[in-house]
Amino acid sequence: MPELPEVETTRRGIEPHVVGRRITTLRVHEFRLRWPVDPRMVTAVAGSAIRRAGRRAKYLLLETDAGTLILHLGMSGSLRVLPALTPRITHDHVDIELDSGQTLRFNDPRRFGSLLFTAGDPSSHPLLRSLAPEPLEDGFDGEYLWKITRRRAVAIKQLIMNSRLVVGVGNIYASEALFRARVRPRRQARKLSRAECTKLARAIKTTLAMAVKVGGTTLRDYVGADGNPGYFRQKLYVYERAGEPCRVCGKPVKQFTQGGRSTYWCSICQK
Ligand SMILES: [Zn+2]
Repeated sequence: MPELPEVETTRRGIEPHVVGRRITTLRVHEFRLRWPVDPRMVTAVAGSAIRRAGRRAKYLLLETDAGTLILHLGMSGSLRVLPALTPRITHDHVDIELDSGQTLRFNDPRRFGSLLFTAGDPSSHPLLRSLAPEPLEDGFDGEYLWKITRRRAVAIKQLIMNSRLVVGVGNIYASEALFRARVRPRRQARKLSRAECTKLARAIKTTLAMAVKVGGTTLRDYVGADGNPGYFRQKLYVYERAGEPCRVCGKPVKQFTQGGRSTYWCSICQK
C-alpha cells in the first residue's frame, strides 16, 4: 500500500509536469472507485489551470482555478505522466489530459483509490478536516505526542498508526520509528516519558523524511511516479527482517502480530 512517503514521492514526481498546465479534458473511464466519481467534476475542471500540486496526509491535492481534485491512491493506485496518446492498459481508470500533450494517468487494480472534487477550501472537506497534524511539519513534535499519549492505554505502535492522532505512519514506518526511538511497540502509550515522546516524534520525522528522500519503500505493487521502485527497503532496521541480525546489537530481530499487522522489533535495543 502506498504510504505517506510514496505519496509524497508521487507528488514531487508529478509536480513539474502539472503545475501551470491547463486541464484540457478529464476522462473518467471507470466511475466505480472507492467512492463513485461524481461526473460533474468532468465539466467543472475542463479548461482550468493547475496552480499547485499539494498533499494532505495521503491525499494528493491538484488545486485548479475551478477547485481542487482530491486523489487518493488507495491500496494499489499509481499515477504516471505519459504522452496523451499512449494506449491504456488494464486498470487505467482516469486520464487528466493537459495542454502539454501529456496525461496524468491513474491506474488502480483494486479500485480502493478515489477521485473527488471540491470547489471550496480542501482543508474543510469532510475527508480532510479532522486529520491529525502532518508529521513532517512543525505542529507535530514531542510536546504533541506527549499530550495525545497521556490518557491512552493503547500500545504505542497502534497509537502512532491511528490517523486521527498521527497521519502517515503506516506499518513499516511505525516499526522503524519505534526502533530508532528505542521504544518497545507494545508499551502502553501513557507510560512513555516526556523524553521518549520527544525521541519518538523525532524518529517518526527522520524515518519519513529519509523514506521521502530515497523515493519511498519498494512494496509489492508500488512504483514511483517515474516508474522506478523506491530504495528505502535496503535501509530498514527491523521491518520484514525477523530472525536476521539487528543492525545495532546483532541479536535476531523479533516479530509478533499486533492489531492484525506484523510488528518487528529488537528485544535488546528497545525498552
Ligand atoms: Zn538490537
